Amino acid sequence: MSITQTPGKRSRVWSDVDLDRPGKQAGYLQIPWSVTRSAYGNISIPVVVIKGGEGPTALLMGGVHGDEYEAQIALSRIARELEPEHLQGRVIILPSTNLPAALAGTRVSPVDQVNLNRCFPGDPEGTPTPQIAFYIDTELLPRTDVWLDLHSGGGSLAYLPFASNHAMPNTEQNARSLAALEAFGAPVSVIWSFFDEPRMAAGCAARHGVTYIGSELGGAATVSPEGVRLGYEGSLRVLRHTGILKAEAPIDVPPAPPIRLMEASNRAFYAYAPEPGIFEPACALGDTVEPGARIGLLHFVDRPMREPVPVHVEGGGLVVCLRHPGLTDRGDCLCHLAFDRPPGAIGA
Ligand SMILES: [Zn+2]
Repeated sequence: MSITQTPGKRSRVWSDVDLDRPGKQAGYLQIPWSVTRSAYGNISIPVVVIKGGEGPTALLMGGVHGDEYEAQIALSRIARELEPEHLQGRVIILPSTNLPAALAGTRVSPVDQVNLNRCFPGDPEGTPTPQIAFYIDTELLPRTDVWLDLHSGGGSLAYLPFASNHAMPNTEQNARSLAALEAFGAPVSVIWSFFDEPRMAAGCAARHGVTYIGSELGGAATVSPEGVRLGYEGSLRVLRHTGILKAEAPIDVPPAPPIRLMEASNRAFYAYAPEPGIFEPACALGDTVEPGARIGLLHFVDRPMREPVPVHVEGGGLVVCLRHPGLTDRGDCLCHLAFDRPPGAIGA
């Protein structure tokens, strides 16, 4: 067990896994959580560390949101298959980073109702979810060169599977992340060009300067086999790209296809429900819509004589995300688009 102390606050997370030891270890990160049924109890988050020789470190995370399953499946498979002799460097895998949420199939943790991807840099004296974020920020990120933070849409959103970057203030970091995005090889790859949320993992990545890739591998709280395959193959391709996975390692990965590099920009490319109702989409994932297009109707089943309200999106582009449940409240995201990225436009 080794926990590096940081000045000031210190993570209270402990583990039977030594992050720095060569070889392959599978164990748990223990989040202290004293409750009625378990006075000295811990929440046990699975972690796998595989280290073979000196080299860079990749941090592979799925299950930050518990209702997103593709990465949890893909990264567990990678954890089973990779061996130290395949590597020149280290891979740290958290297949189900917020395990209580993963076991409950919920976006936020059922333990403290906190969204792990909205609580960075976390708090070592907080409830379990901020404790996980703080451990990532203070113990994992200082060891990390490339971070794959793989998501899907969860129960409320259906996504066209893609991998992504966030445009960050550091252009050198953006160039590294773009090269890794190309190596990941998602046929549709998206750069999130707005950057205004330091509580997200991307904000944590920006502060640490690590190469950072995200994804949306499917959604609707189901499992996309295409998304699982993309998460598995793309992650291995990035490990090859960084030299962590040796070229001669007997891991069969198809080469990356060319990517269609797109951008997800500001609110003009999103549509939100103006009032409660039932959302009927007028488009499907993968459709291309013109600026100002009607993307669906809101119906009012308690007032059958009222005409449905059309919902429009100001921008135009590829429909990459649609709300999944029909029942909709005011302010819910109903749709968002991505548009083709101008050549040479890298980063912020
Ligand atoms: Zn997510």
